[in-house]
Amino acid sequence: MKAEGQRILKELVLVGGGHSHIAILKEFGMRPVLGLRITLISEYGGTPYSGMLPGLIAGHYNYEEVHIDLVRLCRLAGAQFYRTRVEGLDLGGKRVLCEGRPPVRFDLISINNGSTPRTKGIAGAAKYSIPVKPIMQFLRGWDRILEAAIKREGDSYRVTVIGGGAGGVEVTLATQFCLYNELKKRNITSSQIEFHLVTESDVLLPTHNPRVQEKYTRILDDRKVVVHLQHRVVKVEADALFCEPGAIILSDAIILATDGAPSEWLRESGLTTDHQGFIVVDECLRSPSHPFVFAAGDAASVREHPRPKSGVFAVRQGPPLGENIRLALADLPSKPFVPQRHFLSLISTGDQYAVASRGRWALEGKIIWKIKDWIDRRWMKQYRELPAMSEDEGDSRIAERLIPNSDTLPEEGKETIRCGGCGSKVGSVVLNKVLNRVDIIERKDILLGLKSSDDAAALKVPEGMIQVQSVDSFPVFLNDPYMFGKIAANHCLGDLFAMGAEPQSAQVLVTVDPGSDSAMEEQLFQVMSGAISLLEEHRVALIGGHTSEGSPLGIGLVVNGLAEEGSLLRKGGMRPGDQLIMTKPLGTGTIFAADMRARAKSSWIEEAVRSMVRSNGPAIDCFKRHGASASSDVTGFGLVGHLIEMLHASGTGAKMNLKAVTFFSGAVETAKAGILSTLQPQNRKLEASLKFKGERDERYELLFDPQTSGGLLASVPLKHAEACLGDLKSVGYLDAAVIGEVVVREKEEPCLEIRGL
Ligand SMILES: Cc1cc2nc3c(=O)[nH]c(=O)nc-3n(C[C@H](O)[C@H](O)[C@H](O)COP(=O)(O)OP(=O)(O)OC[C@H]3O[C@@H](n4cnc5c(N)ncnc54)[C@H](O)[C@@H]3O)c2cc1C
Repeated sequence: MKAEGQRILKELVLVGGGHSHIAILKEFGMRPVLGLRITLISEYGGTPYSGMLPGLIAGHYNYEEVHIDLVRLCRLAGAQFYRTRVEGLDLGGKRVLCEGRPPVRFDLISINNGSTPRTKGIAGAAKYSIPVKPIMQFLRGWDRILEAAIKREGDSYRVTVIGGGAGGVEVTLATQFCLYNELKKRNITSSQIEFHLVTESDVLLPTHNPRVQEKYTRILDDRKVVVHLQHRVVKVEADALFCEPGAIILSDAIILATDGAPSEWLRESGLTTDHQGFIVVDECLRSPSHPFVFAAGDAASVREHPRPKSGVFAVRQGPPLGENIRLALADLPSKPFVPQRHFLSLISTGDQYAVASRGRWALEGKIIWKIKDWIDRRWMKQYRELPAMSEDEGDSRIAERLIPNSDTLPEEGKETIRCGGCGSKVGSVVLNKVLNRVDIIERKDILLGLKSSDDAAALKVPEGMIQVQSVDSFPVFLNDPYMFGKIAANHCLGDLFAMGAEPQSAQVLVTVDPGSDSAMEEQLFQVMSGAISLLEEHRVALIGGHTSEGSPLGIGLVVNGLAEEGSLLRKGGMRPGDQLIMTKPLGTGTIFAADMRARAKSSWIEEAVRSMVRSNGPAIDCFKRHGASASSDVTGFGLVGHLIEMLHASGTGAKMNLKAVTFFSGAVETAKAGILSTLQPQNRKLEASLKFKGERDERYELLFDPQTSGGLLASVPLKHAEACLGDLKSVGYLDAAVIGEVVVREKEEPCLEIRGL
């Protein structure tokens, strides 16, 4: 959380968007800590509320009703969101190791990444069974089971669930309810479908009281679920389970709902873990071996107060975890937290019926389900209906000054009065550290590059070639500096590709948020790593740059390309009859305007980011192969703006079909809500140059939406258009579309005619 003029002094990294961390994010969003940067690392943009998982499987809720949107929550909290899987910890270097992206530095770290069903001791489980967590993976596997069962059209089909705890019985009954429902919808009999539940325990629900166990034994019996007690599964194959002592259970589908196991990398991290590999924490939720590490939820094993793994405890640990992190930031002693021993469990039976369990007490009925449903929905509401936020609110909330001030900080974190000379240049130590950590490719045509100590770079332009150059820069719009750097570099290369040039080299200008040396190094490292990884994909050498301190984070790139003389594809070559092909959907401006206000869904951001890092390189190759007469990349002026530029340069007119234009998921919705980029009204002034026929809705507004790292717009001869479109799709531009045609320009008439819906 960074207030205006505030330097980043500490980094808090949250691993996993579990139940405790979502509470922290919301609370830190409402009561920010001055000088603290929070980063959440999670492998999915949404995290499920465990209590509603069986209802999701049974079909009573949809995906969004049971998932908390981590992207929106992070926006509200002013936190960074890195969507990736954590693979390890480097505790000595205080770094989190992530899949497919550079390590992430921290001062304090909190781990709340849950658990997944235990596969250890069950040979073949990883290959032949479907674990109930992570839920996205389970839902995909469950779809395959449904499809296979439906295909049998009433012939026998066996589903077996391994695990007799609350999760296991709930999943058995929820999957049965769902499958029977799907068969009924298709008029297929379910009489040949069998459900089996296998557990090594001698009772069902061993952590609950005997009355609950009896009720469940009866309910499973009524629902014709075959229960195998005292069967320890030791091996599974595609169609069978092998149990000790000696039984074989044949099965077409195997679901794993065993007790939770921790991530393997926790055990290897060097943290003190218990015999199962969960992180040992004290009653303040702090690792005794590494006090800068906190942990909560399933991932943690509280030394003083062992409790079963349950979402209830993860939820309850959220507030004390947040408070103890605040205290640790202020170098104050932590406060112990004693979790309650007994709590109310409401265990569902799939058919909107549930059993309540607490201590020695049990109750069942439809009303219990209704109460459960009400409690769960009410809990979700606090995260689904987040307070509205204006674009700049993140910095204006009253922030707590918790981190010790300059007098008590170690040397590197001390606030110093910064001079603005040399463009507030970032110190050479920080810069050199970053440059030493990134790999920069070398090329023979770079005579003097980053590795030389000269004042400027020197490039060789081979005989018969010309140099093509472009520049662009951006303030940060995405709360992930690595991906931001990647998108910015891709956007800048887009200008070279649009002209048919081959990128060769780049210079980069970065403005990093003021902070301690380590905070600035981290941000510079992340943003540069993103940009360099993209440049590397295209064998582009980084030959120089400049860094400065300032707010907000920003990056600009000067890019150089090479092209054969006379080969450039320019805006002015369009010919009447050519077809207009656009390679990517529109809508990044409106979606990121919504994201700034914490109103964009994580799935929209994911889709837009995927497209924004997709290179325009393969697209220009397709266009060239199919004889394109002109091309441009669609960026800040929006589709209409760039098309009109092309039409003016070509002296032609064009007819465009609004129905044919594609938009990112969420773009029409955010535009409909009146959320548009601040640039859009300026772009819309081009309306004077067009004639509109027919009906219009918010899609019309999006024709003026400024794009970041947008697609290419090209004119292709009619006879090649279909083949060109097929080629574009085959290399990954699945949304490429013919959106109109080039026509003869009529005097006195606007150059562009748009047909509406
Ligand atoms: C079918 C079923 C029903 C259940 N019903 C209930 C119930 O009714 N009540 C109850 O109290 N408990 C229930 N539980 C148990 C409950 O799900 C867990 O105890 C609870 O989810 C643990 O919460 P957590 O906050 O520790 O982690 P989780 O809620 O599991 O969250 C972990 C988060 O970390 C992310 N993550 C995991 N690994 C990584 C990684 N390597 N890198 C980045 N991110 C990662 C995940 O994507 C996820 O967002 C149920 C469990 C199952 C399987």
